[in-house]
Amino acid sequence: MKKELRVRPIKNGTVIDHIAAGQALNVLKILGIIGQTDAVISAVTNVPSQAMGTKDIVKVEGRELAPHEVDKIALIAPSATINIVREYKVKEKHKVALPSVIEGLVRCANPNCISNTNEPVISKFTVNKREKGVQLRCVYCERVISENIVEHLL
Ligand SMILES: [Zn+2]
Repeated sequence: MKKELRVRPIKNGTVIDHIAAGQALNVLKILGIIGQTDAVISAVTNVPSQAMGTKDIVKVEGRELAPHEVDKIALIAPSATINIVREYKVKEKHKVALPSVIEGLVRCANPNCISNTNEPVISKFTVNKREKGVQLRCVYCERVISENIVEHLL
């Protein structure tokens, strides 16, 4: 019952569930970067979860996020599930899927990369999924980011 109280339902919108505890703010950051700032977004942290111990939840009210908008959060929240809510009921549910290319979201670790200069070049990485996690490779300079991707968010 306590859980129900903490996670107030929304009437219409998107609930991003099963985010690893502590990652909600990074999910918000990614959603902000991709331009969802006009929606009412709230985060609930450290919610008890049977599967995960504790988890974070992000709610986006009044807006249904399309998979291509949300999939980028798979970079930092690979186990996240997306729930589309209409009239307080979950109407659609799917898991985030890692995109093969990430554009305009992560800063290249190479200071001399063309995406880090004043040129109007948007950062772009190809995404490789490996056993130990995600690896990003810059399409311009081939620099690889494989750890602490969160710290490289734009
Ligand atoms: Zn680069």
